[in-house]
Amino acid sequence: MRRDGVHVDLDGHQLVNFASNDYLGLAGHPRVCAAATAQIEAEGFGSGASRLISGDTCALHELESALAAWKGFDAALVLGSGMLANIGLMDALADRHSILFTDRLNHASLVDGCRLSRGRIHRFRHGDLSHLTSLLVAHRAARRIIVSDGVFSMDGDGADVAGLVKLAEEHDALLVIDDAHGTGVLGPNGRGLVAEAGMSGHPRLIEVGTLGKALGSYGAFILAHKSMIAGLVQRLRTLIYSTALPACAAAAALTALAEVKKGEAGARLRANIDHFHRCAAGCGLQLMPSRSAIQPLLIGEDSAALQAAEDLGQQGYFVPAIRPPTVPEGTARLRITLSAAHQRIDIDGLVQALAGLHL
Ligand SMILES: *Cc1c(COP(=O)(O)O)cnc(C)c1O
Repeated sequence: MRRDGVHVDLDGHQLVNFASNDYLGLAGHPRVCAAATAQIEAEGFGSGASRLISGDTCALHELESALAAWKGFDAALVLGSGMLANIGLMDALADRHSILFTDRLNHASLVDGCRLSRGRIHRFRHGDLSHLTSLLVAHRAARRIIVSDGVFSMDGDGADVAGLVKLAEEHDALLVIDDAHGTGVLGPNGRGLVAEAGMSGHPRLIEVGTLGKALGSYGAFILAHKSMIAGLVQRLRTLIYSTALPACAAAAALTALAEVKKGEAGARLRANIDHFHRCAAGCGLQLMPSRSAIQPLLIGEDSAALQAAEDLGQQGYFVPAIRPPTVPEGTARLRITLSAAHQRIDIDGLVQALAGLHL
């Protein structure tokens, strides 16, 4: 990716990038980059050890306080990546006596975390709370956990967070929401779907997010009640047995968070999403329903999706074809992601190219 947040070099060609999760264009922002550089100059690059040994830094704690306050939770725990966060979290929360109720379209990191936890897994149809209710009624255990993406990574639609919290309360379950794609994009001031549902800090709720998408950095965080976070610090194997996130990544994320709070980048992104919707509707393109930065165009056949991606590449637009097993059979799609850094002309050009595809 180029530092402008819009272009990417592929096979010697410069393409307009509609494939990045840097939704607010903060990965290359001058203040974000300067914060990382200053941190490296002060403390070097690598952290040298796990946080529980000698790798802990003030930058990580400062970021944790800022994230918890912004998201409206009691406490936060920052760690290496979203993949590590989810694998460690599910393993720490569940054991072979636990039952996990998981949305069928959950991200791979949640799928793998649930599998490694050795808990029993019941998958509910995507977003189908009545199916989830029937599973909760039928399967009982001392510890039950409902697990869902917030904004779904390949569809761009959002979970009904308030409905999931209500079910967690009624059925005495915990709820894990991974809002990797909602953070910085949706909800009040970009605080995500949990905040939008008014469920921030709910005692049954654990929220996960990444620093690698809208926050333009690398790393991830878990938000929960103080006592839960204290317990996780003792049990999260991907925290305990892995080198701490470099302080420069935390410093970059902290500065990016300050930029998110200003609201300008979020407003530009929302304007771009609205503009894309209007142009696509004007050209008769049938998009999947999504108000997030992820705007997929369903194609169906794998070969047709690949051909479409190839054609778009020829015209100067990088849009990946997403195929099974990442998405269900027969639902291959173009996964278009929009950014605050895109100009109108980028979006207009893409829509023209999409409208001209022979689908
Ligand atoms: C991207 C993503 C992750 C992984 O986060 P990384 O920080 O990239 O490892 C986890 N969950 C969801 C829903 C994601 O989209």
